[in-house]
Amino acid sequence: MKTNQKVWKGLEELENSPEFEKQKHNEFPENLPAVEEASNDLESMKAPRRDFLKMMGFSLTAATVASCQMPVKKVIPYLEKPGNVTPGVPNFYATTYAQAGEYASILVKNREGRPIKVEGNELSNVTMGATTARIQASVLSLYDSSRLKNPIVDGKPTTIEESDKVVQAALAGLNGGKLAIVTPSLMSPSTKLLVEDVIEKYGNAVHVNYDSLSASGMIEANEACFDKAALASYAFHKADVIVSVAADFLGDWYNAGEISKQYAKGRKVTDGKMSKHYQFEGTFSMTGTNADTRVVIQPSAEGAYVVALYNAVAQLAGVSAISGPSVSDKAIDKAAKDLWDARGKSLVVAGSNDKNVQTVVNGINYILGNYGSTLDINTTASYKQAKDSDFISLIHDMNNGNVAGVIFYGVNPVYNHPMAKQVKTGIEKLQFSAAIAERLDETAELTKFVSADRFFLESWNDAEPKTGYYSLTQPVIQHLFEGSRQGQDTLLSWFGDTRTYYDMLTANWTSNILNGTDWDTVLHDGVYESTPSMMATEFGGDVMTAAAGIANPGNGEELVIYVKNTIGDGTYANNPWLQEVPDSVTKVTWDNYLVVGPAMAEAKGWKQEDVVSLEANGYKINVPIVIQPGTKTGVMALALGFGREDKTMKSGKIGQNAFPFLTLANGTFNNVIAGATVAATGKTYAIAQSQVHHHINPVKRSVVRQATLDQYKESPYAGYHKYNDSGDIMVSGEKEWKRVKATKDQTLYPEITMPGHHWGMSIDLNSCIGCSSCVVSCNAENNIPVVGKHEVKRRHDMHWIRIDRYFLSTDDHHYTDGNENPQVIHQPMLCQHCDNAPCENVCPVNATNHSKEGLNQMVYNRCVGTRYCENNCPYKVRRFNWYDYTGQDSFAWNEAIHETMSNDKGDDFDDLVKMVLNPDVTVRARGVIEKCSFCVQKIQSSKLEAKKDSRRLRDGDVKTACQTGCPTDCITFGDVKNPESNVSKAWEDERNFFVLEEIHTLPSVGYLAKIKNIDKEELQQV
Ligand code: SF4
Repeated sequence: MKTNQKVWKGLEELENSPEFEKQKHNEFPENLPAVEEASNDLESMKAPRRDFLKMMGFSLTAATVASCQMPVKKVIPYLEKPGNVTPGVPNFYATTYAQAGEYASILVKNREGRPIKVEGNELSNVTMGATTARIQASVLSLYDSSRLKNPIVDGKPTTIEESDKVVQAALAGLNGGKLAIVTPSLMSPSTKLLVEDVIEKYGNAVHVNYDSLSASGMIEANEACFDKAALASYAFHKADVIVSVAADFLGDWYNAGEISKQYAKGRKVTDGKMSKHYQFEGTFSMTGTNADTRVVIQPSAEGAYVVALYNAVAQLAGVSAISGPSVSDKAIDKAAKDLWDARGKSLVVAGSNDKNVQTVVNGINYILGNYGSTLDINTTASYKQAKDSDFISLIHDMNNGNVAGVIFYGVNPVYNHPMAKQVKTGIEKLQFSAAIAERLDETAELTKFVSADRFFLESWNDAEPKTGYYSLTQPVIQHLFEGSRQGQDTLLSWFGDTRTYYDMLTANWTSNILNGTDWDTVLHDGVYESTPSMMATEFGGDVMTAAAGIANPGNGEELVIYVKNTIGDGTYANNPWLQEVPDSVTKVTWDNYLVVGPAMAEAKGWKQEDVVSLEANGYKINVPIVIQPGTKTGVMALALGFGREDKTMKSGKIGQNAFPFLTLANGTFNNVIAGATVAATGKTYAIAQSQVHHHINPVKRSVVRQATLDQYKESPYAGYHKYNDSGDIMVSGEKEWKRVKATKDQTLYPEITMPGHHWGMSIDLNSCIGCSSCVVSCNAENNIPVVGKHEVKRRHDMHWIRIDRYFLSTDDHHYTDGNENPQVIHQPMLCQHCDNAPCENVCPVNATNHSKEGLNQMVYNRCVGTRYCENNCPYKVRRFNWYDYTGQDSFAWNEAIHETMSNDKGDDFDDLVKMVLNPDVTVRARGVIEKCSFCVQKIQSSKLEAKKDSRRLRDGDVKTACQTGCPTDCITFGDVKNPESNVSKAWEDERNFFVLEEIHTLPSVGYLAKIKNIDKEELQQV
């Protein structure tokens, strides 16, 4: 892309310090704590070793023997086999994931009654088959034995019948005193009806929506501008120009899977065109890593940037300017011009939770004529519906005695509300407090009555994620705990309604939704959609007043509270698949930490892993430092979702809770906090960061290729261009591409014959957003063990696919100034299934060898663990089982797990997690190497399907787990001997390259070069 460009993964690599050089060649990095010292030395953030190991026990057990024990007393063989179950053949059921503001219609793979894998439902026009890391990981949480198993009254377990009696009596004892039912924003139309019925029946009750990750500002702005207190619908795929002011729209800003799918469509280079993405932000978000033009700004200036953008667009449109805090930035003028040129096909979004900022954003989109094309307020989204003010009022009512009772249904404000302290005191003052919860979480623990809710995979429900788009939730497993009951049925019972929720649901669908369509058809498909068309709308917002209400930017140090796309609001903090996935930007696992830029760290004398005390809003925590290029100097960032105090979690407390830092401003909670004080503590804290593990030297080797859109239009081979020091093309990409291709068949080795298929993959770097959904999908499909923080730190992570995050810069560009801005490429790296595989040559026992279909395969029971193959793999994708992750060693190593092995009835609940295992995939023992198999089990089952139908395999019949888990469709798999297959066509694309192709390993994974939509002027700034 530019002369003397460097590609690097971390500052240590860029600077190539002697320490890095030494560690790079050390398989076992020095100065690591031994296993016995794995606990943290940090008093205030101590997550004891036994807690980490407990979590590991949860996950290690997940990878144990494939024979599974159901949590029932008797195991009865199929004397009479159910008609729809064939042992060894999976069933797929359509259902719905609708949790914490995230929605997807999904298919759940069942083996003999056990859900083992989640896939996206391509029939949904909302998510179009997309899932996310969190949705992929949800199946593991089903088997979390620390979920609630029975109701609790006054802290003691009881039966459903007993608890119903006492709750009904307690409700009657309120004598009509005011009651509040707090739920997350309800996407379910039938649950909404139920809550309305309950409220009517009780007489003096209110329903309060509660969103832990608030979108209150957008909702209030839409109400003010369009008289619709709801989120709009977005069509990112129709936008040629996207401008985001600190909206992490590929993360948790809206509905990540849906937006990622849309966004990636616009990022495919078609006829020399792709969308242009500007991102203005102070800290590196996952969305920011994907932007063409990323501008580092002061976080408190987000509103001022939005005002400046409005005025720049208004000037081009010939409408009046607005007065308010503003900034002067050439990038704003450039973005405004691009937006104006693409009016009607552009989109502006902002992450701010300030109603005034969102009103001005609406104004910009209105001037640009985007309503009705790239966004729609007539088809609204129900992901988040809560206004912050509603729950704040309830907190005041609880503390002032204005409410007699509260039912917390599926919410946990004692952990994830910024005013958690007041929530706690409020609960203590209530006459009646109850929780309907899946676990004894921070809120449920404080209430008098707790009902054990069922997991969504055990429940009936429905959803209307957007106006006119419906989907059904059906149980895909018999409920696991007898003492649990679906929350809706609990509400009905507590309020004396004898109907079941299933009856209510079917009645509602028959009367109000189906319009004569067959219920069974909808249940089979999972979705029922009327696909309303987008409509333009009249704008009634007062942008003048809104702009005047925007706060002036600060110029001091600022703290930004953000959300990770894996852990989110912390609901799934007990899910080890999500904890062990490295963060998309920092590549840190198992913790949150204070992100600072290199310049700030240097000025303060902070080093990576130094512990600082952070104080704001009267709340103080100790956190370790992580230094991240691309973070504005003076800006610090801390992730939500950590620091859970739920005592039942096997993980124990991981990281620190950041919710109390969120600050109330203009009636909503703001994530940018000025005036935080930070002080060194003199302590250090070990962080498990995987960014330079499994090191390939990208500086000297052709690991990633990239070009600008202009360069690509001039020559589609531009990713292969070689430049001289003056920036001129030294060797044309076309010449180089053809030379590489021509040498492909030149080999000293005997010709490899593949009489049948030759399996290959293509990965489009232009649409890989680095979300790691593929990583979790691979974990689930292939029974990949979680190893825990300490082992990750020792480079023993077991993931078969990793997402390498590369920064790009020029030689003289060392990112010591936090306002500088490296470009980023995410590259999924897995076994390349080389046809000249260096691993195969060195295995002394032929445990790794080549199949007749081009697969580099592992014979686990031949492997003697010499690890020659691992050392000889240039891609560093082979993983060694250092511990007996699959068997009894893990239990002996971790005495703490025994505490959770059985309850007082002797039920062995921890066996429960074994139910998630895929019986089609061998689990691996201690001392063997494992790695990606191209999901050979899926290849075999597709072949059997084709054989049953007496046909040849069709292109697309075999889809690997990483491919189905990817929301952006950047992975293509198939037979490269079929010239019509999509993978063959991708390999013929001029952008196609193979990693390290000069060493002639002949990989079976091709990559399409990254294309950045930046012009010459912007290129100079890279
Ligand atoms: S390949 Fe993986 S990291 Fe990249 S977009 Fe797809 S799922 Fe996300």
